Amino acid sequence: MFLWKNVEKWFSFSAHLCNDPNMNIKIIMKVFFEIRRLRRNEFLATADLEHIRYNSVKRLRNHAMALSPFYQKYHKGYENRPLNELPVMTKTLLMENFDNVVTDRRIKLADVRKYAEERNNKKNYLGRYRVNATSGSTGEPGFFLYDEPEWVSIIASFARGQDWAGAGLDLTRRRRLTTVASLSPWHMSSQLMNTASTWFTPSKPLAASDPLEKNIVALNQWQPDLLTVYASMARILAEEKLSGRLMIQPEKVFTSSEVLTDETRRRVKEAWGNEPYNQYGSTETADIAAEHHSCRKMHLFDDLLIVENVDEKNRPVPPGEYGEKILVTTLFSRTQPLIRYVVNDSVKLNDEKCPDCHLPFSVLESIQGRREDSLSMKAKKGGMVTIQPLVFNRIMDILPVSGWQIHEQKDKSLTIYLSNVRENLNPDKLSGVISNALMKEGAAKPVIRVKIVNEIPKSASGKSPLVRSFGG
Ligand SMILES: [Zn+2]
Repeated sequence: MFLWKNVEKWFSFSAHLCNDPNMNIKIIMKVFFEIRRLRRNEFLATADLEHIRYNSVKRLRNHAMALSPFYQKYHKGYENRPLNELPVMTKTLLMENFDNVVTDRRIKLADVRKYAEERNNKKNYLGRYRVNATSGSTGEPGFFLYDEPEWVSIIASFARGQDWAGAGLDLTRRRRLTTVASLSPWHMSSQLMNTASTWFTPSKPLAASDPLEKNIVALNQWQPDLLTVYASMARILAEEKLSGRLMIQPEKVFTSSEVLTDETRRRVKEAWGNEPYNQYGSTETADIAAEHHSCRKMHLFDDLLIVENVDEKNRPVPPGEYGEKILVTTLFSRTQPLIRYVVNDSVKLNDEKCPDCHLPFSVLESIQGRREDSLSMKAKKGGMVTIQPLVFNRIMDILPVSGWQIHEQKDKSLTIYLSNVRENLNPDKLSGVISNALMKEGAAKPVIRVKIVNEIPKSASGKSPLVRSFGG
């Protein structure tokens, strides 16, 4: 009871100090209750969890059939079929049919675009919806709208990721947060940062696209307790810490958005004494999985999403094998119901109960990479062959460098960027090793150039993807 009183006091106090003008005490309380509800789900028996998932899917499908003209047509005749027999939803299909997919007839894509162009728009769209946009680095930008209950679920799901790392809400101390990510106001990370920023958790978002020197100065001044960065940035910052230029000692480091390699884990541990906590999510679905401190495995948020691992023809892929993509059904989505939504990531799932923690949720064994990170190369036997980023990771990850990138050029040749090479490294030998690995995968002998640079080239959103296809 004493704690509860304190909680109430804290929320009424911090709500005045929250950066987000669309937040108020009522919403913050709802987030708190949602966090508690999610915590209870983490102790469910498997059968009870399945029951919740079954009912949540049913409610979502009923909602879509009642209010979305698109789904009324798209799912016609499938009303009594199980989820895994329904047709899949792609981003292109979603954006082409936007006005009919949404469940509020007042929402129009043209108006959403106009709203998003006014960058300093403080009020929610139509007084009700938060507008999030995907950066467009993987094609056309997509818009994703969330009303209050949906936003509450999203904040609670991100809070769960922090909680699992042992850095949940602590009312007894102030923790400084920093993200080095995209600062676009429509990017989910910057909106979440805004919402999360209170007196108890002051935040300083930094732009990943800014020069490294500038971010090092800002980090040294701010001294974050919790640091959330793209995986490639984690490695670069760890190197800066080890070289003595970066002088911060965050309690936890969170990585997201890109493949986290073993070498990055090792370097972060060397720099700060602890391995990073990896999180996996997207603007469309919010967090999909996060690492738990007791087992150090990534677990899916099975009470918030249904994740199906499938091959290129949307057929199920058995546990322990990499799929081509995942199909995500977001159980809390209502404004834009997402049912079997295609996320182009190649992952491996495990359906056995985790032996090292209490969670009833499935283990996400490995993320091999986004399909956008794979390269389509000329094959030895003619035609094309797909090269997964893991082929490069195995070789590149152990090099004595602070960062690396494989960049495909227009003529299909590859440029290998290396930054801060610590020891002698023979570029010809490296080209040879990469070339052999690619030919082993069926590729024709590629043209490879090695370039040593001060900083790895970035995409428009500030990411430094390890593997970058032409135009990415
Ligand atoms: Zn576990």
